[in-house]
Amino acid sequence: MENYSIKISNVSKSYGDVSAIKNISFNVKKTEIFGLIGPDGAGKSTLIRILTTLLLPKTGNINLENLDIVKDFKKIRHIIGYMPGKFSLYQDLTVEENLNFFATVFGTTIKENYELIKDIYSQIEPFKNRKAGDLSGGMKQKLALSCALIHKPKVLFLDEPTTGVDAVSRKEFWEMLKKLQKKGITILVSTPYMDEASLCDRVALIQNGEIMSIDTPENITNQFNKTLYSIKTENKYQLLQDLKNYKNQNSVNAFGQFIHYTDKLEKLKIDDIKDYLKEKKHTNIEVKIIKANIEDCFIELMRE
Ligand code: ADP
Repeated sequence: MENYSIKISNVSKSYGDVSAIKNISFNVKKTEIFGLIGPDGAGKSTLIRILTTLLLPKTGNINLENLDIVKDFKKIRHIIGYMPGKFSLYQDLTVEENLNFFATVFGTTIKENYELIKDIYSQIEPFKNRKAGDLSGGMKQKLALSCALIHKPKVLFLDEPTTGVDAVSRKEFWEMLKKLQKKGITILVSTPYMDEASLCDRVALIQNGEIMSIDTPENITNQFNKTLYSIKTENKYQLLQDLKNYKNQNSVNAFGQFIHYTDKLEKLKIDDIKDYLKEKKHTNIEVKIIKANIEDCFIELMRE
Protein backbone atom coordinates (compact mmCIF):
# COMPACT_ATOMS: atom_id res chain seq x y z
CA MET A 1 0.00 0.00 0.00
CA GLU A 2 2.69 2.48 1.02
CA ASN A 3 4.45 2.19 -2.27
CA TYR A 4 4.11 5.89 -2.80
CA SER A 5 6.58 8.59 -1.96
CA ILE A 6 4.22 11.47 -2.82
CA LYS A 7 0.42 11.47 -2.68
CA ILE A 8 -1.29 14.54 -4.07
CA SER A 9 -5.07 14.91 -3.82
CA ASN A 10 -7.27 17.71 -5.10
CA VAL A 11 -4.65 20.41 -4.96
CA SER A 12 -5.41 23.90 -6.29
CA LYS A 13 -3.59 27.19 -6.15
CA SER A 14 -4.42 30.66 -7.46
CA TYR A 15 -2.52 33.93 -7.69
CA GLY A 16 -5.28 36.53 -7.48
CA ASP A 17 -7.51 35.76 -10.45
CA VAL A 18 -5.01 33.41 -12.07
CA SER A 19 -5.82 29.81 -11.36
CA ALA A 20 -2.36 28.21 -11.64
CA ILE A 21 -3.21 24.68 -10.40
CA LYS A 22 -6.70 23.26 -10.81
CA ASN A 23 -7.68 20.36 -8.61
CA ILE A 24 -4.72 18.12 -9.36
CA SER A 25 -4.39 14.58 -7.97
CA PHE A 26 -1.70 11.99 -8.61
CA ASN A 27 0.83 9.80 -6.82
CA VAL A 28 4.54 9.31 -7.30
CA LYS A 29 5.98 5.89 -6.54
CA LYS A 30 9.06 5.40 -4.42
CA THR A 31 12.32 5.67 -6.43
CA GLU A 32 10.44 6.62 -9.56
CA ILE A 33 11.64 9.28 -12.01
CA PHE A 34 8.43 11.20 -12.54
CA GLY A 35 8.26 13.93 -15.20
CA LEU A 36 6.03 16.96 -15.12
CA ILE A 37 5.88 17.99 -18.75
CA GLY A 38 4.26 21.11 -20.11
CA PRO A 39 4.84 24.49 -21.71
CA ASP A 40 5.65 27.76 -19.98
CA GLY A 41 2.93 28.85 -17.61
CA ALA A 42 1.43 25.34 -17.31
CA GLY A 43 1.80 25.40 -13.51
CA LYS A 44 4.87 23.19 -13.08
CA SER A 45 6.85 25.57 -10.84
CA THR A 46 3.81 26.34 -8.73
CA LEU A 47 3.22 22.66 -8.06
CA ILE A 48 6.88 22.08 -7.25
CA ARG A 49 6.90 25.06 -4.88
CA ILE A 50 3.89 23.61 -3.10
CA LEU A 51 5.57 20.20 -2.88
CA THR A 52 8.72 21.76 -1.45
CA THR A 53 6.70 23.62 1.26
CA LEU A 54 7.48 27.07 -0.16
CA LEU A 55 3.86 27.80 -1.09
CA LEU A 56 0.66 26.71 0.62
CA PRO A 57 -2.00 25.05 -1.54
CA LYS A 58 -5.42 26.69 -1.56
CA THR A 59 -7.19 23.31 -1.41
CA GLY A 60 -6.23 19.67 -1.13
CA ASN A 61 -3.81 17.44 0.71
CA ILE A 62 -0.30 16.29 0.06
CA ASN A 63 1.49 13.50 1.80
CA LEU A 64 5.21 13.17 1.26
CA GLU A 65 7.03 10.14 2.71
CA ASN A 66 4.14 9.83 5.18
CA LEU A 67 4.43 13.43 6.31
CA ASP A 68 1.83 16.14 5.81
CA ILE A 69 3.01 18.99 3.63
CA VAL A 70 1.43 21.64 5.88
CA LYS A 71 1.71 20.24 9.40
CA ASP A 72 5.12 18.61 9.00
CA PHE A 73 6.77 21.15 6.74
CA LYS A 74 9.91 21.40 8.88
CA LYS A 75 10.53 17.64 8.79
CA ILE A 76 9.80 17.59 5.08
CA ARG A 77 12.44 20.24 4.40
CA HIS A 78 15.07 17.88 5.80
CA ILE A 79 14.18 14.96 3.58
CA ILE A 80 13.77 16.76 0.28
CA GLY A 81 16.24 18.32 -2.11
CA TYR A 82 15.16 21.15 -4.37
CA MET A 83 16.81 22.53 -7.45
CA PRO A 84 14.83 25.61 -8.50
CA GLY A 85 14.71 26.80 -12.08
CA LYS A 86 16.56 30.01 -11.35
CA PHE A 87 18.69 31.72 -8.72
CA SER A 88 19.55 28.67 -6.68
CA LEU A 89 23.26 29.49 -6.44
CA TYR A 90 25.06 32.40 -4.86
CA GLN A 91 26.79 33.84 -7.90
CA ASP A 92 29.47 35.66 -5.85
CA LEU A 93 30.45 32.61 -3.84
CA THR A 94 32.85 30.04 -5.23
CA VAL A 95 31.81 26.52 -6.17
CA GLU A 96 33.10 25.14 -2.88
CA GLU A 97 31.60 27.96 -0.81
CA ASN A 98 28.19 27.35 -2.34
CA LEU A 99 28.32 23.68 -1.52
CA ASN A 100 29.60 24.35 2.00
CA PHE A 101 26.81 26.83 2.55
CA PHE A 102 24.09 24.31 1.67
CA ALA A 103 25.80 21.61 3.74
CA THR A 104 25.93 23.92 6.78
CA VAL A 105 22.26 24.89 6.46
CA PHE A 106 21.40 21.21 6.81
CA GLY A 107 23.89 20.60 9.63
CA THR A 108 26.16 18.40 7.56
CA THR A 109 29.50 18.62 5.74
CA ILE A 110 30.71 17.97 2.21
CA LYS A 111 32.93 15.19 3.56
CA GLU A 112 30.08 13.40 5.30
CA ASN A 113 27.98 13.08 2.15
CA TYR A 114 30.69 13.07 -0.48
CA GLU A 115 29.81 9.56 -1.64
CA LEU A 116 26.37 10.58 -2.92
CA ILE A 117 27.58 13.59 -4.90
CA LYS A 118 31.00 12.22 -5.88
CA ASP A 119 30.13 11.38 -9.51
CA ILE A 120 28.61 14.79 -10.09
CA TYR A 121 30.78 17.03 -7.95
CA SER A 122 34.09 15.50 -9.06
CA GLN A 123 33.43 16.94 -12.52
CA ILE A 124 33.38 20.51 -11.21
CA GLU A 125 35.80 20.07 -8.32
CA PRO A 126 38.79 21.23 -10.45
CA PHE A 127 37.00 24.60 -10.55
CA LYS A 128 36.12 24.72 -6.87
CA ASN A 129 37.66 28.16 -6.42
CA ARG A 130 35.78 29.68 -9.34
CA LYS A 131 32.79 31.92 -8.63
CA ALA A 132 29.48 30.25 -9.43
CA GLY A 133 28.58 33.23 -11.61
CA ASP A 134 31.53 32.44 -13.89
CA LEU A 135 30.56 28.81 -14.58
CA SER A 136 29.07 27.51 -17.83
CA GLY A 137 25.40 26.47 -17.88
CA GLY A 138 26.25 22.77 -17.63
CA MET A 139 28.63 23.33 -14.73
CA LYS A 140 26.14 25.52 -12.84
CA GLN A 141 23.61 22.76 -13.26
CA LYS A 142 26.01 20.19 -11.74
CA LEU A 143 26.76 22.49 -8.82
CA ALA A 144 23.06 23.18 -8.20
CA LEU A 145 22.38 19.45 -8.24
CA SER A 146 25.27 18.79 -5.81
CA CYS A 147 23.85 21.48 -3.49
CA ALA A 148 20.37 19.93 -3.65
CA LEU A 149 21.83 16.53 -2.73
CA ILE A 150 24.30 17.46 -0.01
CA HIS A 151 21.98 16.44 2.84
CA LYS A 152 21.05 13.04 1.30
CA PRO A 153 17.40 13.75 0.51
CA LYS A 154 14.87 10.95 0.02
CA VAL A 155 12.98 12.93 -2.59
CA LEU A 156 14.53 15.26 -5.14
CA PHE A 157 12.58 18.05 -6.89
CA LEU A 158 14.08 19.52 -10.04
CA ASP A 159 12.39 22.48 -11.69
CA GLU A 160 13.37 22.65 -15.37
CA PRO A 161 16.96 21.58 -14.67
CA THR A 162 17.87 21.30 -18.36
CA THR A 163 16.41 24.57 -19.61
CA GLY A 164 19.14 26.58 -21.31
CA VAL A 165 21.65 23.73 -21.10
CA ASP A 166 23.37 22.32 -24.19
CA ALA A 167 22.37 18.92 -25.62
CA VAL A 168 25.47 17.06 -24.36
CA SER A 169 25.03 18.37 -20.80
CA ARG A 170 21.33 17.52 -20.94
CA LYS A 171 22.17 13.93 -21.81
CA GLU A 172 24.76 13.70 -19.05
CA PHE A 173 22.29 15.20 -16.60
CA TRP A 174 19.70 12.51 -17.27
CA GLU A 175 22.36 9.83 -16.82
CA MET A 176 23.13 11.33 -13.40
CA LEU A 177 19.44 11.17 -12.49
CA LYS A 178 19.32 7.48 -13.37
CA LYS A 179 22.26 6.84 -11.04
CA LEU A 180 20.57 8.74 -8.21
CA GLN A 181 17.42 6.71 -8.76
CA LYS A 182 19.46 3.52 -8.32
CA LYS A 183 20.62 4.90 -4.97
CA GLY A 184 16.98 4.96 -3.81
CA ILE A 185 16.06 8.58 -4.41
CA THR A 186 12.59 9.49 -5.71
CA ILE A 187 12.81 12.18 -8.38
CA LEU A 188 10.16 14.60 -9.61
CA VAL A 189 11.46 16.64 -12.51
CA SER A 190 9.75 19.27 -14.64
CA THR A 191 10.68 20.06 -18.23
CA PRO A 192 9.31 21.93 -21.22
CA TYR A 193 11.23 19.53 -23.53
CA MET A 194 8.91 16.83 -24.80
CA ASP A 195 11.83 14.66 -25.92
CA GLU A 196 12.85 14.23 -22.28
CA ALA A 197 9.56 12.46 -21.51
CA SER A 198 10.93 9.15 -22.72
CA LEU A 199 13.66 9.33 -20.05
CA CYS A 200 11.08 9.29 -17.23
CA ASP A 201 9.37 6.21 -15.79
CA ARG A 202 6.04 8.04 -15.85
CA VAL A 203 4.98 11.49 -16.92
CA ALA A 204 2.12 13.88 -16.33
CA LEU A 205 1.33 16.13 -19.27
CA ILE A 206 0.22 19.43 -17.79
CA GLN A 207 -1.42 22.42 -19.44
CA ASN A 208 -3.19 25.43 -17.89
CA GLY A 209 -2.94 23.96 -14.40
CA GLU A 210 -4.58 20.68 -15.37
CA ILE A 211 -3.22 17.20 -15.96
CA MET A 212 -4.20 16.00 -19.41
CA SER A 213 -2.64 12.57 -19.27
CA ILE A 214 -0.58 10.58 -16.82
CA ASP A 215 1.12 7.30 -17.65
CA THR A 216 4.35 5.74 -18.84
CA PRO A 217 5.68 7.51 -21.96
CA GLU A 218 5.11 4.29 -23.90
CA ASN A 219 1.46 3.96 -22.87
CA ILE A 220 0.81 7.61 -23.71
CA THR A 221 2.18 7.23 -27.22
CA ASN A 222 0.37 3.90 -27.69
CA GLN A 223 -2.91 5.66 -26.96
CA PHE A 224 -2.57 7.83 -30.07
CA ASN A 225 -5.43 6.45 -32.11
CA LYS A 226 -5.01 7.97 -35.55
CA THR A 227 -2.76 7.07 -38.45
CA LEU A 228 0.08 9.57 -38.40
CA TYR A 229 1.85 10.54 -41.63
CA SER A 230 5.23 12.20 -41.75
CA ILE A 231 5.56 14.23 -44.93
CA LYS A 232 8.37 16.15 -46.59
CA THR A 233 8.76 17.93 -49.92
CA GLU A 234 11.09 20.52 -51.40
CA ASN A 235 8.92 23.44 -50.30
CA LYS A 236 8.00 23.15 -46.64
CA TYR A 237 6.01 26.35 -46.38
CA GLN A 238 3.85 25.51 -49.39
CA LEU A 239 3.46 21.95 -48.10
CA LEU A 240 2.09 23.26 -44.82
CA GLN A 241 -0.45 25.39 -46.67
CA ASP A 242 -1.47 22.62 -49.05
CA LEU A 243 -1.92 20.07 -46.28
CA LYS A 244 -4.01 22.54 -44.30
CA ASN A 245 -6.25 22.83 -47.35
CA TYR A 246 -6.40 19.08 -48.00
CA LYS A 247 -10.06 18.07 -48.00
CA ASN A 248 -10.26 15.85 -44.88
CA GLN A 249 -7.43 17.35 -42.91
CA ASN A 250 -7.58 16.69 -39.17
CA SER A 251 -4.21 18.05 -37.99
CA VAL A 252 -1.08 19.52 -39.54
CA ASN A 253 1.99 20.23 -37.41
CA ALA A 254 5.56 21.07 -38.34
CA PHE A 255 8.31 18.94 -36.78
CA GLY A 256 11.69 20.14 -37.99
CA GLN A 257 12.05 19.09 -41.63
CA PHE A 258 8.79 17.12 -41.62
CA ILE A 259 5.10 17.85 -41.36
CA HIS A 260 3.02 15.48 -39.24
CA TYR A 261 -0.43 14.97 -40.68
CA THR A 262 -3.60 13.17 -39.61
CA ASP A 263 -6.73 12.79 -41.66
CA LYS A 264 -10.38 12.57 -40.66
CA LEU A 265 -10.79 9.51 -42.84
CA GLU A 266 -8.84 6.42 -41.83
CA LYS A 267 -9.00 4.98 -45.34
CA LEU A 268 -6.52 7.50 -46.74
CA LYS A 269 -3.57 5.88 -48.50
CA ILE A 270 0.00 7.11 -48.81
CA ASP A 271 -0.48 7.27 -52.58
CA ASP A 272 -3.55 9.50 -52.19
CA ILE A 273 -1.40 12.05 -50.39
CA LYS A 274 1.41 11.72 -52.94
CA ASP A 275 -1.03 12.21 -55.84
CA TYR A 276 -2.50 15.29 -54.20
CA LEU A 277 0.94 16.78 -53.61
CA LYS A 278 2.03 16.04 -57.18
CA GLU A 279 -1.08 17.86 -58.39
CA LYS A 280 0.04 20.79 -56.27
CA LYS A 281 3.42 20.70 -58.05
CA HIS A 282 5.52 19.48 -55.13
CA THR A 283 8.81 17.73 -55.83
CA ASN A 284 10.91 15.21 -53.84
CA ILE A 285 7.79 14.01 -52.07
CA GLU A 286 8.30 11.70 -49.08
CA VAL A 287 5.35 10.27 -47.19
CA LYS A 288 5.57 7.60 -44.49
CA ILE A 289 3.46 6.34 -41.63
CA ILE A 290 5.14 6.82 -38.27
CA LYS A 291 4.52 6.11 -34.58
CA ALA A 292 3.39 9.16 -32.62
CA ASN A 293 5.83 10.76 -30.22
CA ILE A 294 4.90 12.48 -26.95
CA GLU A 295 4.61 15.85 -28.64
CA ASP A 296 2.09 14.50 -31.17
CA CYS A 297 0.07 13.16 -28.24
CA PHE A 298 0.30 16.43 -26.36
CA ILE A 299 -0.91 18.42 -29.36
CA GLU A 300 -3.79 15.96 -29.89
CA LEU A 301 -4.79 16.17 -26.20
CA MET A 302 -4.81 19.95 -26.32
CA ARG A 303 -7.27 19.87 -29.21
CA GLU A 304 -9.80 17.79 -27.30
P1 ADP B 1 5.46 26.87 -15.31
O1 ADP B 1 6.43 26.54 -14.23
O2 ADP B 1 4.83 25.65 -15.92
O3 ADP B 1 6.02 27.80 -16.34
P2 ADP B 1 4.13 28.52 -13.31
O4 ADP B 1 3.76 27.67 -12.16
O5 ADP B 1 5.36 29.38 -13.16
O6 ADP B 1 4.20 27.64 -14.64
O7 ADP B 1 2.92 29.49 -13.65
C1 ADP B 1 1.56 29.07 -13.70
C2 ADP B 1 0.67 30.28 -13.88
O8 ADP B 1 0.70 31.09 -12.70
C3 ADP B 1 1.07 31.21 -15.02
O9 ADP B 1 -0.12 31.72 -15.58
C4 ADP B 1 1.87 32.28 -14.33
O10 ADP B 1 1.80 33.50 -15.05
C5 ADP B 1 1.16 32.40 -12.99
N1 ADP B 1 2.08 32.79 -11.89
C6 ADP B 1 3.18 32.12 -11.47
N2 ADP B 1 3.76 32.74 -10.43
C7 ADP B 1 3.01 33.83 -10.16
C8 ADP B 1 3.08 34.89 -9.18
N3 ADP B 1 4.05 34.91 -8.27
N4 ADP B 1 2.12 35.85 -9.23
C9 ADP B 1 1.14 35.82 -10.15
N5 ADP B 1 1.00 34.86 -11.10
C10 ADP B 1 1.92 33.88 -11.11
